[in-house]
Amino acid sequence: MKNRRLSDLCFLRSVAPGVTLSVLLVCVMTGVISYGVHRLIDFAISTTIKNEAIQETSKWAKYFNATSPDLARMMADGKLTQEQNNIVQAAIDYNNVYSFMLFDLQGQLNFGSDEGVLESPEDQAFSQEALNVVHSGEPSVIVTKRQSYSTLPDFFVEALVPAYGTDQQIIGVIYLFMDKSDKAALFHQFLNWLGYLLPILCALLYSIPSLAFVLKREQANAKARRVNHLSRFDHLTGALNRHTMSAEAKMRFTQRRAAENIGVMFLDIDNFKAVNDESGHEFGDAYLHNIASILMGTVRSTDLVGRMGGDEFVVALPNIDREELERIGIRMLSAARKPFEYKGRTIKSSISIGYRLSPQGETPQTALHCADLALYHAKSNGRDSLVEYFPELDMALNRRRDIEATMESALATDRFETVFQPITEPKDGSIIGFEALLRLTSESGEKIPPTEFIPVAEETGMIHEIGLQVLRNALKTALNWPSGVFLSVNLSARQFDRDDLVEQISTILTELNYPAHRLEFEITESLLMEDEERISEMLADLRHLGVSIAMDDFGTGYSSLGYLWKYSFDKLKIDKVFLEGYDFDGERYREIIETIVVLGRKMGMEVTIEGVEEKRHADMLKSLDCDQYQGFLFGKPMAAHETLSISWDQSKTA
Ligand code: C2E
Ligand code: MG
Ligand code: MG
Repeated sequence: MKNRRLSDLCFLRSVAPGVTLSVLLVCVMTGVISYGVHRLIDFAISTTIKNEAIQETSKWAKYFNATSPDLARMMADGKLTQEQNNIVQAAIDYNNVYSFMLFDLQGQLNFGSDEGVLESPEDQAFSQEALNVVHSGEPSVIVTKRQSYSTLPDFFVEALVPAYGTDQQIIGVIYLFMDKSDKAALFHQFLNWLGYLLPILCALLYSIPSLAFVLKREQANAKARRVNHLSRFDHLTGALNRHTMSAEAKMRFTQRRAAENIGVMFLDIDNFKAVNDESGHEFGDAYLHNIASILMGTVRSTDLVGRMGGDEFVVALPNIDREELERIGIRMLSAARKPFEYKGRTIKSSISIGYRLSPQGETPQTALHCADLALYHAKSNGRDSLVEYFPELDMALNRRRDIEATMESALATDRFETVFQPITEPKDGSIIGFEALLRLTSESGEKIPPTEFIPVAEETGMIHEIGLQVLRNALKTALNWPSGVFLSVNLSARQFDRDDLVEQISTILTELNYPAHRLEFEITESLLMEDEERISEMLADLRHLGVSIAMDDFGTGYSSLGYLWKYSFDKLKIDKVFLEGYDFDGERYREIIETIVVLGRKMGMEVTIEGVEEKRHADMLKSLDCDQYQGFLFGKPMAAHETLSISWDQSKTA
């Protein structure tokens, strides 16, 4: 609703200049038309009155001719008898003549009336105008509108018409001054409404289509602007989209001045997948929008913020030094840490930022690559941090690529090896199970530890294939062990990303006809921090198959008691770090180990202690109530064929 009102407001604001211009145009046009129409009306009235005056004066001259038999003489000497005087007077009154004059053939004024008084002028005035009429035989009529300062009538006509004798010869010129104010006023009264109506009509005729045009054009413009916006910006977050960001950043790099450093940040949201899984995609979208707003609100007006896809953002900061770049990055981190609330649901998350202060001459691709490596480092070092690129990151990347290639070829040529580490019974040291552990050897013979290749397998997704391969191989070996010996297999948190994990495991168990109760899966706490409901269901399904679940490496992660309650494990495996700690602070670590053992037991779990390397470890553990030991003291991880040559009756080690 608010958005709609906002967009209406924007639309109104954008059409306002067009409408104002149209209104202005209409006003000017109305004024011009109004002025023109009035001028036209004046002209029409003058012309009509002029024509009328010509006819009237001609008629008047004829009438005068007819009623004055010795007109020719009157013209010549200007003397009128009383009777002629009366006739003239009556004619003047009848025709509303204001002034009347007679000119002879030489243009001399011989007789005249002024304001009703008829008289022969003492000085005979000459009129060139009258002489012209004598020569041309055409009447001369002038229509005049009174000037404001004059005492003359509002509208009057001065007409000079030739007077004809009985032989139809011009005998002189009659001058008439007629007051036409009433007539003109009548015309005006009749025509003036036209002077108002016409401009209004024109204004309407113009303004309706022009307004429609302005609105239509503005709608088209708004659409074009929207299309432009959509093609430039990411519709979800309002940041620049990937394409525009790349183009704009490239431009900043090519236009940079000598010695200008450009900051490039590559960042993403920590555990965004979990945010999406747990709170839904709508919440995830709102959270993405929130992060983009934080970024855009933190950078300077000259900087660029672009969304590269998913939860990845890139920020380009031209003309910047390291201190300012770090300041901006730290502000982003702390703003992103604040709880985010949407539709009654609140989460706390964080972002990780890798950045590169790109020097003159470096390409945007290289700068971005460096920032990406730094981000990767920030992620693998606990997240929620700001890391600047350093050259060793390239070496780490190369190493990672090598491992990836080695794993790919190992998968293809079956070069992964599964080894088995004994798990023993504390009382007599007999082997009661084995943990399957994966080994990778490169083509050059280098042994790559699982702590290094398993994370790469998880990132690349290879863990799905590798995990099932380990399980299958280990089960094949375990089938040869005595029935009381169990197999323990590690499951990575990433393997749980596949919904069909349990189904796949079930299929393998059925295929190999392996009894599920002799199989145990080890999972770590990192898995339990993900989508709680889903993981809980998958673990329940696994247990439903008949396998047992152990919590591995207990004590190294969050060691939350909540997880132990929630997921009810069959076994707790105490991490080897506690026995390592025992080596330099014996009493303290003994107590910690004892506490964990008691806790596990009380919660109905079996307890295994890892990393039993030395006899002194075993001696100390005797006083505790552990169920199983695992460590080099009782057996190092061994090849599959070695487990087959164990003489089970004499397998006791301690
Ligand atoms: P983990 O599951 O806790 O496995 C136990 C690790 O402790 C093994 O290291 C084992 O060799 C080592 N260990 C056992 N006893 C002792 C001891 O007395 N002293 C010392 N210092 N170490 C001992 P490894 O084989 O290097 O495996 C390391 C980790 O790699 C494993 O820890 C596990 O998390 C992971 N891993 C190994 N194989 C697989 C696998 O097939 N799948 C998955 N998802 N992870 C695996
Ligand atoms: Mg394990
Ligand atoms: Mg372990």
